[in-house]
Amino acid sequence: MITEEIQRYASQYLMNTYARLPVAFIRGKGTRLYDAEGREYLDCVAGLAVNVLGHCHPDVVEAIEHQVRHLLHTSNLYYTEPQVLLAEWLVEHSFGHKVFFCNSGAEANETAIKLARRYATAKFGPHRVEIITMTNSFHGRTLATLTATGQEKVRRGFGPLVPGFTYATFNDISSVESRMTDKTAAVLLEPIQGEGGVIVADPTYLKQVRALCTDRHVLLIFDEVQTGMGRTGTLFAYEQFGIQPDIMTLAKGLGGGMPIGACVATDEVANAFDPGSHASTFGGNPLACAAALAVCRTLMDGEVLAKVQQAGAYLTKGLQELKDRIPLITEVRGLGLLQGLELSIEGGPVVRDCLARRLLINCTMERVLRLLPPLIISLQEIDHLLHILSDVLNKRV
Ligand SMILES: *Cc1c(COP(=O)(O)O)cnc(C)c1O
Repeated sequence: MITEEIQRYASQYLMNTYARLPVAFIRGKGTRLYDAEGREYLDCVAGLAVNVLGHCHPDVVEAIEHQVRHLLHTSNLYYTEPQVLLAEWLVEHSFGHKVFFCNSGAEANETAIKLARRYATAKFGPHRVEIITMTNSFHGRTLATLTATGQEKVRRGFGPLVPGFTYATFNDISSVESRMTDKTAAVLLEPIQGEGGVIVADPTYLKQVRALCTDRHVLLIFDEVQTGMGRTGTLFAYEQFGIQPDIMTLAKGLGGGMPIGACVATDEVANAFDPGSHASTFGGNPLACAAALAVCRTLMDGEVLAKVQQAGAYLTKGLQELKDRIPLITEVRGLGLLQGLELSIEGGPVVRDCLARRLLINCTMERVLRLLPPLIISLQEIDHLLHILSDVLNKRV
C-alpha cells in the first residue's frame, strides 16, 4: 500500500486517538527509517525512546529469531529461562532485588502503585494508601496511572478517578512535605519529566525527597519508563543523582522495540506480594524477555553508555550554540540523549518542516521540541540533525 491508502484505511478503521503525521514506515535500519515510497529519514524519536539500539539491531533480531523458533508463550503457570535471566540482569545492574514483568509503562506503574499500597497497608494499617505525584508528570493512560499523572488534559472526561492521589509541585520540596501525612504510602516521580516537557529534577530536591521519604517510612518510586535503559548516559537516571528509590518502573527502551515493562523493587518491599496478589498473562513472555536480554547485554558489552555520554555532551553543546544564534529557542534542557528545546512558538509546524527534510523529531507540551535519538547515533548524524534544525528554525524567525 502507498501512504495515502494506509491513511485512508486508518481513518476508516482505527479509533481516532492519535494526531499522526502523514507518513507510513515500512522498514528501519540503525538510525534510519524508510517510508512506503522508499524515502529515508533520520529517526530522532526512536519510537518514543523505545528503539535504544536503533532499528533491527542484529543482536536483537538474532535473539528474537532464535526464541521464535523455540517458544513464544507459556504463561506464568510455568518457569521460562529468558524471564529469569532478564530478572537476574536487572537485579545485578540496579538497586533492586526482585522484578515483576508486564507489557507497558502504564502497567509497570500500576504494579508499583499496587505494591506500594500493599506494603504500606500491611505494615502501617489500612489508612496508609495515598500516593503523592508531581504536577506536570506523566505515568500512563490506565485509570490509576492517568490519575497519577499531574496533567488535567489526560484526565478530562474519564472520571470518577481513582481515590488516594495528591499532587505536589515538581522540584519543590516544601510542596511534597506539606502533602505528606500518616496516610502517605509513597511518592512517585520521574527523574526527568519527559512528556511534561523534558524537565530535569534538581539533584538537591531529589536528595531531599529521598531523605523525607526515609524519615517518614514512605516509599520512593521512580518512574524510569522513559529515562531508563541508558537514555541519560547511565543505565538508569537515578544513578546520576546519588540516591536510590525503593521501587523503579521500566518499559520503553527495555525491549528495544518489543513490548515489555518491569517493576523493580527492594526485597523488603517486593515481599509484600505473594502468589495471587498480582499477575499478567503476557508479562515476562519468553519472546519479549529474550529481546530485552539482548538489549541489556548489548548496552553493556557494546560500550553504548560511554557513547551516549559523548553524544549527549556533543548534542547539548550544539543545541546551546543554536540557542545563542536563534532567539526562538528560549531554553535547552535534558540529560544524555533526552533533550528538550523550548520555543517561543508552537512546535508542531517545526516538526512538520523537519519531516519534509526527512528528519523525525517530536514535540511535547506544545512548545518543547523533544529529541530522543537511538543511543547509537553518530556525531556526524548529530551534525546533520543540528543543521536541519537550524535551517528550519531560521526560516521561522
Ligand atoms: C511513556 C511513559 C509511560 C507510559 O508508558 P506506556 O508504555 O505508554 O504505557 C509512563 N511513564 C513515563 C515516564 C513515560 O514516559
